[in-house]
Amino acid sequence: MAFASHNSKNGLHASRLDRPLSVNSMKSLASSPTALTPTSTRPKSAAPGSSSVQRRNGTGAQKSGKDDSGVSGRVRVAVRLRPRNAEELAADADFADCVELLPELKRLKLRKNNWDCETYQFDEVLTETASQKRVYEVVAKPVVESVLEGYNGTVMAYGQTGTGKTFTLGRLGEEDCADRGIMVRAMEDILADISPEHDTLTVSYLQLYMETVQDLLAPERDNIAIVEDPKTGDVSLPGTTLVELKDQKSFLELLQTGEANRFASNTKLNTESSRSHALLLVNVKRSAKNKQEKDFVIHNENGNSVHVSKGHRVPTIRKSKLLIVDLAGSERVDKSGSEGHQLEEAKAINLSLTSLGKCINALAENSPHVPTRDSKLTRLLRDSFGGTARTSLIITIGPSPRHRGETSSTILFGQRAMKVENMVKLKEEFDYKSLCRRLEAELDKLIADNERQAQAIFDGEEDMERKLEEAGTRVAEAESKVAAALEVISKEKQRQQKELVEMMQNLQIERAHRERLELELRENVQDLQDKKKILEPENIHKEELSDLKQMLEKECELRQQAERELDAFKREEKKLTNGITERLEQELLEREKLEDEIKSLKQQLLQVHVDAEERSRTIGKGSSARSSGGSNSTISLHTPSNMKDTINGQRATIAKLFEQVGLQKILSLLESEDVDVRVHAVKVVANLAAEEVNQEKIVEAGGLGSLLTLLQSSEDETIRRVAAGAIANLAMNETNQELIMAQGGIGLLARTADDAEDPQTLRMVAGAIANLCGNDKLQIKLREEGGIRALLGMVRSRHADVLAQVARGIANFAKCESRGAAQGYRTGRSLLIEDGALPWIVANANNEASSIRRHIELALCHLAQHEVNAKDVVSGGALWELIRISRECSREDIRSLAQRTLNASPTFQAELRRLHVTY
Ligand code: ADP
Ligand code: MG
Repeated sequence: MAFASHNSKNGLHASRLDRPLSVNSMKSLASSPTALTPTSTRPKSAAPGSSSVQRRNGTGAQKSGKDDSGVSGRVRVAVRLRPRNAEELAADADFADCVELLPELKRLKLRKNNWDCETYQFDEVLTETASQKRVYEVVAKPVVESVLEGYNGTVMAYGQTGTGKTFTLGRLGEEDCADRGIMVRAMEDILADISPEHDTLTVSYLQLYMETVQDLLAPERDNIAIVEDPKTGDVSLPGTTLVELKDQKSFLELLQTGEANRFASNTKLNTESSRSHALLLVNVKRSAKNKQEKDFVIHNENGNSVHVSKGHRVPTIRKSKLLIVDLAGSERVDKSGSEGHQLEEAKAINLSLTSLGKCINALAENSPHVPTRDSKLTRLLRDSFGGTARTSLIITIGPSPRHRGETSSTILFGQRAMKVENMVKLKEEFDYKSLCRRLEAELDKLIADNERQAQAIFDGEEDMERKLEEAGTRVAEAESKVAAALEVISKEKQRQQKELVEMMQNLQIERAHRERLELELRENVQDLQDKKKILEPENIHKEELSDLKQMLEKECELRQQAERELDAFKREEKKLTNGITERLEQELLEREKLEDEIKSLKQQLLQVHVDAEERSRTIGKGSSARSSGGSNSTISLHTPSNMKDTINGQRATIAKLFEQVGLQKILSLLESEDVDVRVHAVKVVANLAAEEVNQEKIVEAGGLGSLLTLLQSSEDETIRRVAAGAIANLAMNETNQELIMAQGGIGLLARTADDAEDPQTLRMVAGAIANLCGNDKLQIKLREEGGIRALLGMVRSRHADVLAQVARGIANFAKCESRGAAQGYRTGRSLLIEDGALPWIVANANNEASSIRRHIELALCHLAQHEVNAKDVVSGGALWELIRISRECSREDIRSLAQRTLNASPTFQAELRRLHVTY
């Protein structure tokens, strides 16, 4: 039986590790009940049930006479009934179906006639309502799972044209996914299971027509040869397109391409697709890990065994094939009566199908000869029937009684196929190529390592010897050291043991001593307690004593504190005394310094004074002392008009003094107890006051007050004179005039005027009052405080200088009164007239001294100007003087003033008329 026995003939090939199929992968088939067939067609070999799954050494394999390296696997056969089509519905309306299905029992009844029928048992009975999914799961899925585990598999449809072979296998289900046929679903499962990185999946699609194999993916290849490996018996089709698949989409495209090419070539050849066989060949190559960890032996092709250690696990690959075959319509098998091409075709188709039937018959009957080589189809299906593949056949039938004969022959074909027993084997191979590559690489590495080590050993031999010698010496040394150390240790040990014994003895003595001491202690404690009891009264005294002691301590503390405070006081006192003494010393020093300063100032002043005296003596006393002529002119103490340079020199000296000493110090000297100092000081101040620039500073520094005080209190004539002169100079300024008045200056001046006899003093006082008379605001106060009376009183002196100042004062006063009357704020009789000035005015109006005369003439003009004074002027005899002035006065302005006055006054005019004076 060549078809089934080629493997046994070749024996176990060294490169093939055949393993039993797992029980799980067989479950669908194994669970199937034992096939029942009509008695007449019951196969010789027992239909395989659960017992069909047998171990390699199992009885089943031996019984079937197959190679003991495989697992017995019977060809599984399912029958599918197509529903009535439109034509059948119409034509066979009155007839019942020729088949009746009993799916629960997996039986089919074929009616012979109205009263007779035959019953057949199948692995699966699929009714006209069975879904495509169910068909796939029952018929193809177990085969697909086997293929994925490394077994070859075949799914094939056999039946009359139009019964649904292509429907079952090849529907793409593009419109309705529930229609997807076995090819599409099988590929979905394969793609889902394999790993794209490690596994490869290739597909070929072929057509077998008139004993010619055509590549449906490259239709130009229309005569592909079938090659058998003489050793393995494996069939291959060199030159066929092998498309490597990665996804379902490309598979669907491949099927469409194949179908289109099949349609095109059939049109060209004027054939139908139902007359050709379509074969889809799926190759699955998966790398499997060898789980065997122990060393194992494999045999090479020469029969020598190779020991493979676990460190070199041999990689294995599993190569399996899934063949899906859509056969040509089975009706042609018996219809060989056609003519021409059709006859040839029928023969060719028949050849393949007849041959297939014959092979199956032979296999079913365990015939010694299986005519596999008779046709291309049987050669291609060599592994599927009686080979190592797991094979599932679906036979399709129609319900129509008109095709009863075809249906019957199809059923019989299925029944015979069910008897074909395959020996399912795992297609696992060692991946020698990759193992070889790995081993070679390792070998190279080992050779290189070996060379290096050899070199290293050679290099190291001498060195090693030397090292060994050294090591020997060191070992000997170490040994002697160890011996010495051991000796020391043993001695030490002995000593320690001795010490230990001594220590133990001592400890015992100590312990006895301690016990004795404890006893004594206890006795002493008892004794002390007894004594304490006896001494209790004493304790009371002890308390008192401690109280007293505490008090004493407290007292001591208080005393110490008091002593500390006393010390602090003493320290403070000492500090204060020191401070006071220091300050006293400082002040004494200060005083000494001041006294020195005063002394030097005194000397300077004396020097100044002496210089001045000397100069004045040189000039001579007789020189006339005149004022500069202005009504407010400065009054000089010793100012001969031709001594301007001398005065300037003196003033320069004083200015220097002023700068060096400072005004404040000079003024302070005015209060000196020493008269001489006061005299010199007041002279210096008076000289300073003669300069307008100094006046304000002197007043600001309080100099005016000091001068007024001197005027009032000093009994020294010189001082009073000089002070009055200084005041007169200060009185040139309007502000100072008001200050002098405010500080009671007019009263002091008046008193000095009354008391003084010295014409120079009187001149100064008169000058001062004269200056004050020129201030409009002060007129009333001046008169009230006796200023005018004092002025008039000084005429007693008869000294021309004094009279000139008095005249100037009267003229100033009259002028102010006249101005006030003209401006309307002053009315009434002149205060000068009131105070009795008129007689003196009249008497001196024609004084020979021009300085007096001119002032008086002016004063008279001012008085006469006002009608209110006119009567007094007339009665006082002043009219004649006025007339004289208007006629004789040397000064033009005064003369014309007098004339205007005379003309303007009705009183004067009337008097002149009365006296018949023509004017
Ligand atoms: P075959 O390939 O055996 O010649 P087809 O598969 O071409 O037959 O089927 C012939 C016709 O019958 C098709 O129109 C198909 O759709 C229909 N047919 C076949 N089997 C079934 C079924 N199980 N259910 C419904 N229609 C079917
Ligand atoms: Mg078809």
